[in-house]
Amino acid sequence: MRGAYLPGNSTVELREVPDPRPGSHQVLVRIRASTICGSDLRAIYRQHLGSGAEAYQDVIAGHEPAGEVVEVGPDCHRIRVGARVAVYHICGCGQCDDCRRGYLVGCSSPVRAAYGWQRDGGHADFLLAEEDTCVPLPDALTFLDGACVACGFGTAYEALCRGDVSGRDIVLVTGLGPVGLAAGLLAGKLGAPRRIGVDLVPDRLALALRLGAVDEVVPAGDDAVAAIRDLTAGRGCEVTVDTSGTASGRSTALRATRSWGRSVMVGEGGSLTMEVSPMLIHPQITLCGSWVTSTWRMARLVDDLARWELHPEITVTARFPLTEAAHAYQTADASTGGKVAIVMD
Ligand SMILES: [Zn+2]
Ligand SMILES: [Zn+2]
Repeated sequence: MRGAYLPGNSTVELREVPDPRPGSHQVLVRIRASTICGSDLRAIYRQHLGSGAEAYQDVIAGHEPAGEVVEVGPDCHRIRVGARVAVYHICGCGQCDDCRRGYLVGCSSPVRAAYGWQRDGGHADFLLAEEDTCVPLPDALTFLDGACVACGFGTAYEALCRGDVSGRDIVLVTGLGPVGLAAGLLAGKLGAPRRIGVDLVPDRLALALRLGAVDEVVPAGDDAVAAIRDLTAGRGCEVTVDTSGTASGRSTALRATRSWGRSVMVGEGGSLTMEVSPMLIHPQITLCGSWVTSTWRMARLVDDLARWELHPEITVTARFPLTEAAHAYQTADASTGGKVAIVMD
């Protein structure tokens, strides 16, 4: 089969490798869609920056796959041949506290391995997946929908659940990349009557409005907080979610949070400095970090998406075949738009 590797220097290498065979508790997934994530670009594609959980081990890239199960190994009890699945992007030991809670991302064992980082991922014809990382897709969702779920929509959904978003909340999203778009779309389905989006890039603001991910947009910058307060009778937003991972995005989110509101940080990297009393203690703000999601929340999300008739693939703005993986990465790296996907026929 073919698999795409990321040797660094912003290059992609398509290599021919043996077809994998499933072992105990494993299934073989024929990949149908596999999206590119900002973290692939940040920590692997340009240069190999990561260590620990982010160390790239020269494996087939891609941690956002979906496809059809074509073979199951011994000891599989839940997933059958023919199942349409999205794949949670990290394999854990199954025994530590976080694994047992479904948060395989937080697995503390040395056997923890992320697809596309420490074990072969989804930019390939086939993926060898652990059965417990497979989430069956409802018929109403496409494979591309499924690929957008694990890391993108799952991360956004988790953040909104942690922020306890309901119909009582104006929601602010700072950073309107794929996770920010997902956060806005999902916040609407959870009942948020208004969603405000902030980004530096005019194309991203326009895309968010066009997709209905937000109701109003504010350009990022020094005036953003004042503009958001103007839109909210001076009060700010009950729930704020930063997906930008930038110091200014986080600061905007926190300073635009209403008193007694909740602020959730999901964008990775960077820093945040604040004066704790006026920004956090006196306004009684609950500040929460949220890392990816869990396997059970992802299963719940795919059901909700089907029920809401919300298709994550609407955030995909470019699609490429596996043979054009290099072009796909170039596009994603230059992107000021939505998600970039590798799709198979
Ligand atoms: Zn990702
Ligand atoms: Zn574990």
